[in-house]
Order: sequence, then structure tokens, then C-alpha cells
Amino acid sequence: MLTLLFFSGILLIIIPQIWVRTTLNKFAKVPSSVGKTGADVAREILNKNGLNNVRVEATNHGGDHYDPEAKAVRLSEEYFTGTSLSAVTVAAHECGHAIQDAENYAFMKLRAATVPVVRICQLGPTLLFISIILTMFLSSPVWKFTALIGLILYTGIFLFQVITLPVELDASFARAVPILEGSGYLAPEEKGNANKILQACAFTYVAAALYSLIEIMRWAIILFGNNRR
Ligand SMILES: [Zn+2]
Repeated sequence: MLTLLFFSGILLIIIPQIWVRTTLNKFAKVPSSVGKTGADVAREILNKNGLNNVRVEATNHGGDHYDPEAKAVRLSEEYFTGTSLSAVTVAAHECGHAIQDAENYAFMKLRAATVPVVRICQLGPTLLFISIILTMFLSSPVWKFTALIGLILYTGIFLFQVITLPVELDASFARAVPILEGSGYLAPEEKGNANKILQACAFTYVAAALYSLIEIMRWAIILFGNNRR
């Protein structure tokens, strides 16, 4: 059981990453029919939604994202200056987050509010790991207790990942897709491929949450189960 959980966890990390990288790279080589850069598309979408105050910036680190504090859509250099299908699609997705922010989308607010707590929760896996190693060598109940705290903190990370899901799915499928399809950024034959990009991106978030769940179950079995393997 533990081995099964361990390997399904590993697969949940590797497969979605390979899938999203392959998909994004594939369509980064495919020029979009609209012929505009990711930056241009983002600027147009933001302006159309009354978000002239939101900046569009190129970034070299942190990947493509929307920064709600700086009110900035940040795109990697490749997508900022590129006119590929990946550039246009990712730009629309990040604008989806800017629109969520402007509309005070509930899950985005909830997610932002929990960020400080999540920073503490991120200590969970390390605390858990160290504690469990220590229980093997030192038979003090203290390590079991700290391991339990680690497990609770890890559960906090999982809950945060669950809250992230509606934010990401909404930005892609309730906002980016209708914008891309309705504003003429995609030719009919490009719609399927844009969807593939967004689905691959969305799956990484689903997989991340599933991975945490599996890891929590695995550590819980190690901690409280009898079958030590
Ligand atoms: Zn996103």
C-alpha cells in the first residue's frame, strides 16, 4: 500500500509536468493566426475589461503570473514578445486572473487571505520528514507529536491547493476561453489547441493537490499504521 502510494505520488509529479511542458513547447512553435504578441493581447483584453490600470510586464523569473498586489500581468519573455498560440493563450489566462481580482472573485480573495497561513504550513513536509526519521532512532513520544503537527500543516497545504483549483479553472475556462473565442483571437481551427494548452496547465494544479493528498495518506499510514515497510 505504502509503495503504491509512493509511486502514484511520483507519477503525479512527473506526468503532468511533462504533459504541460510538451504542450506549451509544441504550441510555442505554432504562430497564432491573430499575429499579435502575448503582451499586445494581454493589453487589449485588460483595456476591454476596463483594467487600463493593470500593467503588462515581461519577467525572467517566477513564470507567467498575475500579481494582485502590484496589479500586473507578468509574462515570460518568450510569451511577452512572441506571437505563438501558447503566448496568446497564456496571456488570456493571466488576464483572467486580473479580471477575477477586479470582480473580487470569492475564491481568489479566500486564496489571498490564506497565503500567510500557507507560508507556515509549508514547514509541514520538512517537519514531518525529520520527525519520522527521528522516531526511528529515538523512541520519544515528542517526535510522534511533532510529526502529527507536520501532518496537520501538510493538510493546510492541501486545502490551499484545493482553494487554488477554482481560481485556476475559472481563469482558464470561464474567462480565457470565452475571451479568446469571442474576441477573434483564435481561428476556429485553433480553439481545440488552445483548450489543450489550458487543460494541460489546469491538470498540473489538480495533480499537485492529489499528490499532497496521497502524501498525507502515506505519512498518516507510516505514523499511525502497523505495517511498517
Ligand atoms: Zn493561473
